[in-house]
Amino acid sequence: MLLVFLGPPGAGKGTQAARLSTKYGIPQVSTGDMLREAVAAETEVGLRAKSIMDSGQLVDDDTLAELVRDRLAQADADGGAILDGYPRNTAQATTLDEILSDADSRRVDRVLFLEVAEDVLVDRLSKRRACPGCNANFHLRFNPPSDGVHCDRCGTELIQREDDREAVVRDRLGVYRDSTEPLVDFYSERGLLARIDGEGDIDEVWDRVDATVRQ
Ligand code: AMP
Repeated sequence: MLLVFLGPPGAGKGTQAARLSTKYGIPQVSTGDMLREAVAAETEVGLRAKSIMDSGQLVDDDTLAELVRDRLAQADADGGAILDGYPRNTAQATTLDEILSDADSRRVDRVLFLEVAEDVLVDRLSKRRACPGCNANFHLRFNPPSDGVHCDRCGTELIQREDDREAVVRDRLGVYRDSTEPLVDFYSERGLLARIDGEGDIDEVWDRVDATVRQ
């Protein structure tokens, strides 16, 4: 099963993808997390990507193609994967089809499009706190860490991602509208798109996501 989460930054793709991954036993492939790990490890890709990510722009398509191709070739993705943050433009969507057909004629089975109003996104992202240790996300109001400062999962001190500052959030939403939103039509025309209301609390959205995947 090859699922793609589509939606603006802050729509909840990572949170819902993690739950699906646990339920179906297939890996969550988050290109944002992979790139942040490369930045932290100061690899060649990471050094190249850091300033682009900090400003909320997209890292180049060739770098992403290589990351995703290598990740999907790993044994734990034999039974499928849940893509979170890829593809982010139509060129990447075409590349994804090529990567999948090269690998045993696989293809995208379903695209889960999380719809959330822009003012809700800005609130979610600017109050988001991320764990640099295990990539867990918290929200200062809706899902606060129990001591207000540390990750409940691994104890690491939480940070605000550079690209979650409000000015950068607005730039990321602009990039989403220009580059990523056209994928709604791209996948809709192929009959793969499922629209899911992404507003409400995490459990409410999960019920909708789970029901859609079970259909
Ligand atoms: P995310 O955690 O998905 O919001 O991704 C954080 C940042 O990583 C994005 O703002 C981009 O700079 C970069 N990034 C993640 N996925 C992609 C992608 N598919 N294409 C280009 N850049 C990406």
